[in-house]
Amino acid sequence: MGNARKGWLVAGAGFTGATAARRLAEATGEPVLVIDKRDHIGGNAFDAPNADGVSVHRYGPHIFHTNSDAVFGFLSRFTAWRPYEHRVQAEIDGRLVPLPFGFAAIEALFPAAQAARLIARLTERYGAEARVPILKLRQSEDGDLKALAAFIYDKVFAGYTLKQWGMPAEALSPSVTARVPVIVSRDERYFADRHQAMPAEGYAALFARMLDHPLIEVALSTPLESLPPELRARRTVYTGPLDAYFGHDEGHLPYRSMAFAEETRPAFGVQPCGTINFPDDRPATRTTEQGWLTGETAGRSVLVTEYPQAHVPGVNEPFYPVPGEAGDALARRYRARAEALNGRVWFAGRLADYQYYNMDQAAARALTLVAKEILPQAG
Ligand code: FAD
Ligand code: UDP
Repeated sequence: MGNARKGWLVAGAGFTGATAARRLAEATGEPVLVIDKRDHIGGNAFDAPNADGVSVHRYGPHIFHTNSDAVFGFLSRFTAWRPYEHRVQAEIDGRLVPLPFGFAAIEALFPAAQAARLIARLTERYGAEARVPILKLRQSEDGDLKALAAFIYDKVFAGYTLKQWGMPAEALSPSVTARVPVIVSRDERYFADRHQAMPAEGYAALFARMLDHPLIEVALSTPLESLPPELRARRTVYTGPLDAYFGHDEGHLPYRSMAFAEETRPAFGVQPCGTINFPDDRPATRTTEQGWLTGETAGRSVLVTEYPQAHVPGVNEPFYPVPGEAGDALARRYRARAEALNGRVWFAGRLADYQYYNMDQAAARALTLVAKEILPQAG
């Protein structure tokens, strides 16, 4: 497994680990050993053909979007892109309305005169094109807006959030529901980012190219804990769960897990858009038709439905850090210990930073870590 005395170890081959590995190899000219306990690269963004040959995102639908030119530029070295703007509709009162909740949803759900008044009030109060977190809209003093906020909270956020996280929105960091703001516009795209596109040949191909470098060696099905001491002694970028690194000795950080149910239909076009959300009380949160994301629309169509689960350590995957006071307080304790290891071990990524990162944020974190922290220390 390479030279034990020189070089780098990267634990985890997801967006954070693969990006860090590539930049370390390029910038230091030293060998980089990338390990992952899973039998594939790509972390949670991994995709692969299913038994019918249809490309499926194995850990739930992954849609790429970013405002970072640096991240988009970096990843563009390893993939061509297929333009794709994700659209989501929510089933509300038996109708499908576009999310984020904006003018189209208001017009679909309220009588015309009331809808016009609500749109005018929203525009007056927040300005055209504003993006208003639901928890902020709920604080509105205006009677119409207060009623609208209560309606949206009840119909869009309350049930979905309770299912997704196992707790009400008020118990979570406000940043969670702010990801899907109420919008003062007719924009029907789920994301507003400057760059919205999918890797033309999928994520696995992107990762294979990113890790294809003469100084990078990849060892799969290799947990960090299984490495011999001389390899563990290498300077390390660790992207696994923050608490797992320390043997959970201060307690388990709260994570949320997810189960995915796959269903195959004879032809594409089962849904009017990529994802349908279910903010009601059925156990599933959303169904995504893969072909919208991958562009593979010939032949069979695969629908993936997500069922949030309590995370049981050792039984299912820690997919989502839970942004809220309880987790944050414990994470701060582990983080202080992690920082004390800087210079030999650096923690980064959705699991190791215990932060609700999107893919672009994970890549950005790794680019910054290498450029601003590791390289300056490495001289
Ligand atoms: P990960 O992808 O989790 O990679 C960490 C890797 O470390 C894993 O492969 C793991 O096996 C490995 N590892 C852990 N412990 C060890 C160990 N001890 N030894 C060796 N290896 C170890 N983001 C978006 O931008 N758009 C989306 O649409 C989107 N949808 C998502 C849907 C779901 C259901 C989920 C769960 C996430 C979604 N994300 C999305 C977030 C995205 O998955 C993350 O931002 C990204 O994968 C984070 O990359 P990472 O490298 O930090 O972590
Ligand atoms: N959310 C909701 N209803 C929806 C969509 C989102 O209540 O129809 C809330 C919910 O709390 C969710 C959060 O907004 O966890 C963030 O949604 P996003 O689609 O960004 O979640 P992710 O794709 O990360 O699972």
